[in-house]
Amino acid sequence: MRFSASIIGAGTAGLISARELAKRGIDAEVYDQKAVPGLPVRASGIVSFSGIDSLGIEYSSCMTNRLYGATIHAGGRSLRIRSRNPVAAVLDRHKLNEKCIDDAQAAGAKVNLGRRVVGADLDRMANGGVVIGADGALSATARHFGLGEIGKITLTYKAVFNVDVQDPGMVDLFFDRKEYPGLFAWLCPNDKDLLEVGVGITSKNTNAKAAYRKLLRDKRVGEILGNAKAIDENASIIPMRLRGRIVDAKRKVLLVGDAAGQVKAATGGGIVYGGNAALIAADTIAKYYETGYGLREYEARYRKAYGFDMLLHSAINRLYSAVGTYPMGTALMMMERLGIGGFLSEYGDMDSPSLILRRFFLRKFA
Ligand SMILES: Cc1cc2nc3c(=O)[nH]c(=O)nc-3n(C[C@H](O)[C@H](O)[C@H](O)COP(=O)(O)OP(=O)(O)OC[C@H]3O[C@@H](n4cnc5c(N)ncnc54)[C@H](O)[C@@H]3O)c2cc1C
Repeated sequence: MRFSASIIGAGTAGLISARELAKRGIDAEVYDQKAVPGLPVRASGIVSFSGIDSLGIEYSSCMTNRLYGATIHAGGRSLRIRSRNPVAAVLDRHKLNEKCIDDAQAAGAKVNLGRRVVGADLDRMANGGVVIGADGALSATARHFGLGEIGKITLTYKAVFNVDVQDPGMVDLFFDRKEYPGLFAWLCPNDKDLLEVGVGITSKNTNAKAAYRKLLRDKRVGEILGNAKAIDENASIIPMRLRGRIVDAKRKVLLVGDAAGQVKAATGGGIVYGGNAALIAADTIAKYYETGYGLREYEARYRKAYGFDMLLHSAINRLYSAVGTYPMGTALMMMERLGIGGFLSEYGDMDSPSLILRRFFLRKFA
């Protein structure tokens, strides 16, 4: 008997699930409502090298830039964290999606593009085998099977500008509780002459596009952008908490990626956590088909691997969301004086705050 899985959504999380299931001999079929998933590009893809390596994607053809660190700005102060070696890659999201489609198909998965899945399809798919909802933060799969809500959503607005980037190795992050409540504004060099400018906010009282327009009027940002015209301008959302439930073992439904809320709340990055959840989901499904039970293990396995780091990310997000801009500026100055900027330059890890803590305590007490 052949075992099957239907995957809703051909983003990175859905395609990695399909690739891994197909490799294990399971009939994996992916559906995406878009003819070209990954377009329009809603964001640059910053991923740590260790994070992207963990997903088994040969990403060199998708990489547009290497990052060495970030400068954090708040209340008129700045903290520069710059490593000697590159710490993260900036990936072309469209190329990354195309690569993931090729990998899934090469492993034997079937990818159906331009196919929107609705409630009746989901019932039929769940009757035939396992269903993976990888259909983003507004997941129709989660809604149809009543898997609860995502407690916190960030609204984003971004555009890309053709400019000569002064230091393509550094990202600028602007924290301001009033202007960008709940996240931050960023300038990310996608390339030496392409700069992404964006804002993320969680407040119902602030409009992300208005916050973005105001950022463009900032003197420092204005000087960098000059007369450059915005290209690829769009709004999007980022889920900032894990969804109420990410698996329904009885109906054989699992959620991965943004649909599950598997995003680092401190930064809004979801490629690595969502991709690793896809690996865990595929492995759990393969074991389920071998033994006939164990689907509910998916959530426990995900939480064991990432629960503590997700908690730390949420705590960091809560902290900077609560602190006023000027106290935050003072904190940056103190961090600089206490050598914390230097410590993070050497030992920082954007995916794993728990690893930073371990390194800190080891260095202090070992
Ligand atoms: C502005 C911004 C900046 C970001 N920057 C980064 C970053 O630098 N690094 C990082 O790691 N992450 C970043 N993220 C987060 C990252 O983009 C997401 O976490 C990641 O794309 C989630 O992948 P996914 O496969 O779960 O979902 P998605 O990429 O959202 O894919 C879901 C797919 O499901 C399809 N779909 C939805 N409903 C249906 C349906 N009913 N039927 C069929 N198909 C359907 C959609 O068409 C879509 O293709 C950023 C996000 C934003 C908004």
